[in-house]
Amino acid sequence: MPKFVKTIFITLAILIPIYFLATQIVARVVDGKFNRVALAPPYHPSTKATRLYKSLPFVADLHSDVLLWNRNITKKHTYGHEDIPRMLEANMALQAFTIVSKTPKNINFDRNDDKTDNITSLMIGTGRPPATWFSLKERALQQCNELYAYAKASQGKLRVITSQTELKALINDRKTNPHQMGGFLGVEGMQVLEGNINNVQVMYDAGIRMMAPTHFFDNKLGGSAHGIKKGGLTPFGSEVIKKMEDLHMIVDLAHASAQLTTDVIKIAKRPLLVSHVGVKGTCDNIRNLSDAHIKGIAATGGIIGIAVFKQAVCGTDAAATAKAIKYATDLVGVEHIALGTDFDGAIPAHFDVTGFPLIVDELLKLGYTDEEIAAIMGGNVRDFMLKNLPE
Ligand SMILES: [Zn+2]
Repeated sequence: MPKFVKTIFITLAILIPIYFLATQIVARVVDGKFNRVALAPPYHPSTKATRLYKSLPFVADLHSDVLLWNRNITKKHTYGHEDIPRMLEANMALQAFTIVSKTPKNINFDRNDDKTDNITSLMIGTGRPPATWFSLKERALQQCNELYAYAKASQGKLRVITSQTELKALINDRKTNPHQMGGFLGVEGMQVLEGNINNVQVMYDAGIRMMAPTHFFDNKLGGSAHGIKKGGLTPFGSEVIKKMEDLHMIVDLAHASAQLTTDVIKIAKRPLLVSHVGVKGTCDNIRNLSDAHIKGIAATGGIIGIAVFKQAVCGTDAAATAKAIKYATDLVGVEHIALGTDFDGAIPAHFDVTGFPLIVDELLKLGYTDEEIAAIMGGNVRDFMLKNLPE
């Protein structure tokens, strides 16, 4: 072997392990920094709330970005908002695992363009395959693969749900062993299609069942609430919505501009969903839903996941989330409202997933019945998914 080839081999043999060790450190540091919890567990809800929470047959959350950080969710962590052990401790039945592919530098709520990106360095820094360094589609597919890998490694504790049949089986199996849960895949921002309608099918084949047209910037489908133009649905956007409906994929209007929300409500033939949001009625800003949009989404047979972060509910404690839930259920009825936390979405949360009983406590204070609380905490998501996932 020539000397220079030997030198290259030796250099790589030293550098590659250093890179992978560094990625583990980066993943841990970045994850811990962006996904803080204000109040460390254990939590102390009232006895009544604890008892009721434990008896809930189906607890569900419509939004978590935990896949982004390369956190091994099969293990219990002392940082971040959730992992499989903590979700099971929290009696969870179903979690939406949503995929982030690109966020602008200096990200803000009012005005972002698509020229810069934080996620490229995150993909490199957390040791994701080189294909994800250059392609938003590959970032989505990678995170899908990671969820399937976690499910496989979880030894039956987590399974990926892609159909009504699989969800029915999970519900049935949980009757004898509630220490198991399902997860389904979603996407924040259809820039992952890379402008190609055929990639809707690619996402479907990868297991994704829910997609939001836009995330933090306007894209080929239409306007983001945080974009520059904040426009409506484009012809390409309409084509994608139609294709998604044909495949029974769920359209998620989180982060959509007001005009995009109006446009999608107008053309939707299937029930719509908003995975993580607040309501203008308790927290008036550009991202939250107006009364007209709440009614419009409910009229499609849709559901709205109320979040736990500050810009959604103008507070971070369970009372702020419960207040937004109350406003929305007063407007359209309990059956359209659910939980959509945005856990691990680079938000500081008041509590981690094991703090869900604190929300029940607040809902009890607001006068909800046990049945209504069961519906809000997950029953509505179960019923929606049983109706709207592919058979
Ligand atoms: Zn989001």
